Amino acid sequence: MITSLAYFGATSPSYKEWETFGPQVLGAELVEPGPDGAVRLRFDEVAHRMAIHPGEKDGVAYVGWATTGQTGARRIADSVSAYGLPVEQASEPEAALRKVMGFYWFIDPAGIRHELAWGQMRPRTTFLPGRAMSGFRTGEQGLGHVVFAVPDLDKSDKFYREVLGFQLSDTVIDGPIHAYFYHVNGRHHSLAIARSPNEHAAFLHLMLEANSLEDVGTALDLCEDRNVPVTRTLGCHTNDRMTSFYLHSPSGFRIEYGWGGLDVDDLWVPRYYDRTSTWGHRHQHKELSPFLVLDPQAPSN
Ligand code: FE
Repeated sequence: MITSLAYFGATSPSYKEWETFGPQVLGAELVEPGPDGAVRLRFDEVAHRMAIHPGEKDGVAYVGWATTGQTGARRIADSVSAYGLPVEQASEPEAALRKVMGFYWFIDPAGIRHELAWGQMRPRTTFLPGRAMSGFRTGEQGLGHVVFAVPDLDKSDKFYREVLGFQLSDTVIDGPIHAYFYHVNGRHHSLAIARSPNEHAAFLHLMLEANSLEDVGTALDLCEDRNVPVTRTLGCHTNDRMTSFYLHSPSGFRIEYGWGGLDVDDLWVPRYYDRTSTWGHRHQHKELSPFLVLDPQAPSN
């Protein structure tokens, strides 16, 4: 069983910028770099939940999911194999790079690399935010959520629900937008997918949830002070009730920085909305690419 979004990895020629952007704008803690020089960021009691690796192109390298231990991870890996996709088990050195005890990995039908991890390391040191803030809402709800555009929405929807075991939270259909949102814990969604306007998969954003609205306001001020493009203004989503704004990260993908997300439980019945936001979230900086096209060849270390 998948229990939460454990970690996220990207590659980027601008990876070094994350050494200041991560702590000073997002509030993450900069921890020891990976052997390849990857900038690693900590958000809570776990060693790190984000790594930006050096690379020639901006891209998503992997999405790491926490599971109910190796047996739980093995069960999902078997389902993925039965679906017809090759699954590999990471070597011990590969697992050590992620600071986990182990993981299986595979490339899904949309070209996204997923890792099914167990045993995320919790170091003896305490989390220290990179700037004054109240910290991140993570724990059992994991790092946050990731949103992808996929070329075959029905195929990906079936794969995430029937093979990986994601639970549908709701559907949003608004003009050209057709999106599904899925939960694996109390967080309204850990994964969402939208229909891609073309045959390419793309990464739309990573959401981080701060513990207070003040942290979101401070991040908004910092973006203005540092000329970090705010791609969607402050607003509130219809479905997960997140009060958030979107910023353009140094690596081309967007980060939704929010507070106040809705919790779901086992009695949740999937909902249907005709718009994504109740107020705000106006698009700005339309000259910037709205997403990052996925490169399945992205390095994995
Ligand atoms: Fe979001």
